[in-house]
Amino acid sequence: MPSPFKFRVDLKRLILLLSIFIAIITFINTIYASYSVQREIIINNTLESNRVYAAKLAYSTEQFLLSSQQQLAYSAKTLQDKMDDDAALTAETERLLMQNNNFNSVFVVRNDGAMLSFHPTSIPLKGVKIRSAGSIEAIELKKPIISDPYVSAVNNYIIVQSYPIFSADKRYLGYVGGSFYLEKENILNSILGEHYHRDSSYLYVVDKHKRLIYHPNRVGEIITNNSVIDTVIKGNSGADRVVNSKGVDMLAGYAYIPISGWGVVAQKPVSITLAELNSQIKKVIINTVPLAILTLIFIWFCTYLISQPLGKLASAVEDLDSHFINDRIRSIRSWYFEADRIKQALLSGMNLVNQRINKLNLDSLTDPMTKLYNRRGLKVMITELQKNHKSFSIIAIDIDHFKRINDNFGHDMGDKVIQLVAKLMTDSFRGADVLCRAGGEEFLMLLPGTDLKAATVLAERLRANTELSEMPDNVHNITISLGLSFWSVDSEVTVEESLSLADKALYSAKNQGRNRVVVADNLTN
Ligand code: GH3
Ligand code: MG
Ligand code: MG
Repeated sequence: MPSPFKFRVDLKRLILLLSIFIAIITFINTIYASYSVQREIIINNTLESNRVYAAKLAYSTEQFLLSSQQQLAYSAKTLQDKMDDDAALTAETERLLMQNNNFNSVFVVRNDGAMLSFHPTSIPLKGVKIRSAGSIEAIELKKPIISDPYVSAVNNYIIVQSYPIFSADKRYLGYVGGSFYLEKENILNSILGEHYHRDSSYLYVVDKHKRLIYHPNRVGEIITNNSVIDTVIKGNSGADRVVNSKGVDMLAGYAYIPISGWGVVAQKPVSITLAELNSQIKKVIINTVPLAILTLIFIWFCTYLISQPLGKLASAVEDLDSHFINDRIRSIRSWYFEADRIKQALLSGMNLVNQRINKLNLDSLTDPMTKLYNRRGLKVMITELQKNHKSFSIIAIDIDHFKRINDNFGHDMGDKVIQLVAKLMTDSFRGADVLCRAGGEEFLMLLPGTDLKAATVLAERLRANTELSEMPDNVHNITISLGLSFWSVDSEVTVEESLSLADKALYSAKNQGRNRVVVADNLTN
C-alpha cells in the first residue's frame, strides 16, 4: 500500500528535534520567567523609590515654603508701624533678601498696589504700581498666598509668596512678598534640582493649574494629558506607571504639597529602568551558550545511541538475502527494552520464515513417494558438492523387469516395490550420501569421499541385499542393475559426463544380463 506520507523523518532526527525543541522551550520559559519576575521587582522598586523621593522633596519644599512664610510673617509684623519709613522698609527688604537667600527678590507693596520697597535695588521698581495677578490676588485676599506663576513687570517668570501687613488696629496696609524666578537660579532649584539627573530619573513640579513650575527644560508649559498630574494636583500622593505627554512610558512617583497646591513628580523612563535588566538577560543568554552546546552534543549522542540499534536492525532486515542475517541481528546491541523486543521478534520471525522456506525447499527438492531427492534436489546437491570441492562416486540403479511387476501385480504394488528399494538404499548408505529417485524405477546415488572401489563394494552389497529381500504380498524377489562412475574435482570431465558414464555402465549391466554391477568403461583400470 503506498504510504500517505512522502517524507518521513528518521528517529535520530526526530528525537534530536524533539529534544532541542523541549530544551529551547524550557530555556525560553526559564529566561522569560526570571525576566518577568526581575522586571516586576525592578518596576515596583523604581515606583517605590520614586514615590519616596517625590514625597521627600514635597515635604522639603513644604517645609521650606512654611519657613519662608514664617520669615515673611516676621517682616510683616516688623513693618506694621513702619510703612512710611523708607529707611526701615529698605533695611527690612534688604535683610530678608540677604539673610537667607531664599528669594530672588523681596518687596513691600502698599494696599493700593504701589511698590514701597524692592530688593535687589538693581531693578528700579520703587513707586511703581504693581498690577500683576499675584499682587492683585494678595491685596484682594489679604492673607498669606503663594501666587500662580506669572510674568513680572521686568519680564521675569515668577512665583510670589506674600504675607499681609496689618496695623496694630487690624487695618490692611499691604503685603511683604518674596519672589522665585522660575527660569533662573532659585531656592526651589536648590531643593529640587540637586538630583534631577539621578540615574536618569528626573523631577518636575506642577502648580494647581497643571503648569510646570519646575522642570529640567519645559518650565511654563501646561500639561493636560497626563494622568499622574491630574491625580497629584487633586491632593494625592503615590506611584504609577504612566505614558507621559510625550508618549514616553514612565515610572512616576508623585506627592502633593498642601501649602502651595503643587505636585512633585519624580519619574524614570521604563526603557531606561529595564535597560540594565535587558543587558543582564543578554549576558545570561550568552553565558548559557557553551552549556547549551554541550547539552546539544549530549542529546545528539543519546539520540545516536537510541536510534543505532533500530537503524541496524532495519538494515539487517533489508538485507534478507544474506546467509548471515541471523548472526547480524544477534550481534546488534539492543540495550533498551523496545529495541530488544524488536530484535527478539525479528529473530523468532526470521527463524519461522527460515523453517517455512526450508520446508518448502525440501518439498520442492524431494520425491514425495520415496522421500529421496528428486532431480532438482540432485542438481542442488551436485552444486553444493562442487562448491565444497568434493569428489564423489556415482551409482545409477534401475529395477530389472519392472514392467512385469506392474503388469502382474498392479501399479500400486509397483509403487510399493519402488519404495522398498528406496528403503534398502537409505538403510545401507551414510547420511552424507546423496540418494535420488531419478524417475520411474531409476535411482542415482552420489557418494562423496568414497572412491570407486569402495563404491563398487557398496553397490554390490546393495545388489545382493535387493536380490535377497523379500517383497510384499507374494511378489517374487526382484533384482537391480547398477552402473558406476566417479567424478573428481581434479578431472576435466564434467559431472554431466560422469552421470552419463554411470548410465552407460547401467545400460551395459542390463545388456550383460541384469542383476549386476558394472563400472564405467574408461574407469575400470
Ligand atoms: P528393464 O529390465 O529393461 O529395465 O525392464 P523394465 O521392464 O524395467 O523396463 P523399463 O525400465 O523401460 O520400464 C519401466 C517401467 O516402469 C515403465 C513404467 O510403466 C513403469 N513405471 C515408471 N514409473 C513408475 C511408477 O512411478 N510406478 C509404477 N508402478 N510403475 C512405474
Ligand atoms: Mg527403467
Ligand atoms: Mg527397469
